[in-house]
Amino acid sequence: MWLVGAGPGDPELLTLKAVRVLGMADVLLVDDLVNRAILVHVREGARVVKVGKRGGCKSTPQAFIERLMIAEARCGHTVVRLKGGDPFMFGRGGEEADALARAGVACETVNGITSGLAAATAAGVPLTHRDVTPGVVFVTAHAAGENEPDWAALVRTRMTLVVYMGVARAAAVQSALLAAGLGASTPVVVVENATLARERQLRTRLERLAQDIVIGEISSPAIIVIGEVAREEIAGHQSKNANVLVSMLSRGGASPGVPGSSNAL
Ligand code: SAH
Repeated sequence: MWLVGAGPGDPELLTLKAVRVLGMADVLLVDDLVNRAILVHVREGARVVKVGKRGGCKSTPQAFIERLMIAEARCGHTVVRLKGGDPFMFGRGGEEADALARAGVACETVNGITSGLAAATAAGVPLTHRDVTPGVVFVTAHAAGENEPDWAALVRTRMTLVVYMGVARAAAVQSALLAAGLGASTPVVVVENATLARERQLRTRLERLAQDIVIGEISSPAIIVIGEVAREEIAGHQSKNANVLVSMLSRGGASPGVPGSSNAL
């Protein structure tokens, strides 16, 4: 049994090990964030089962997925659980690995490039640029209630924040960070569908984050990168992708966008 990271979307960002393991699989259980183009590496005759669970959509219950993995492995099949990005980054890979261990099924995990890294790179953002930050924090905005991140503590670290599952909760994240004292003009880049042909980027400031997400009609899956590293002078290069939305205010009200490469919000 293999738990394999499919990377953020671009099929070229798959690891060589993932390609090898895909070619060995008898059965594949595939999340819906996985780019189907990756399945060219699957051998003929292998069975592909889609077990999507996109936030907000109808989904295959986690317990069912775990039971299926165990049942298929016990039949002697080589089973590959293919997950978007990296299996252990907000992907419930840990829960699945636990379930397999409890069932006595041997499992190896293959890393994938997590979308938080890929999204930052797509936007030209050097996440740990040493002039402006001591490091980077990967965090989910999804966990409301008890698991809600301590945003004030994160702000005190002065680290770059890479927020997963943040689109629907952008307003709450914005107000928590502002309340914790993070500057209203802190640069923010939002990358939707990072590394895919339909990728879009939004460049804005913390004070306008939620508003610009609505205006720009940014939807999941998207990564939100918050911090000085996202400032345009640092995140120097414009994306090769033409779909860069630039908030008017993020440029201090100056005339927005580079003709042909950006759209003003
Ligand atoms: N294990 C995955 C994350 C799963 S959680 C990984 O390592 O990337 C799902 C969240 O990941 C989404 O809500 C979104 O925030 C992010 N995500 C996944 N793929 C993405 C992509 N191609 N572009 C932007 N965000 C993505």
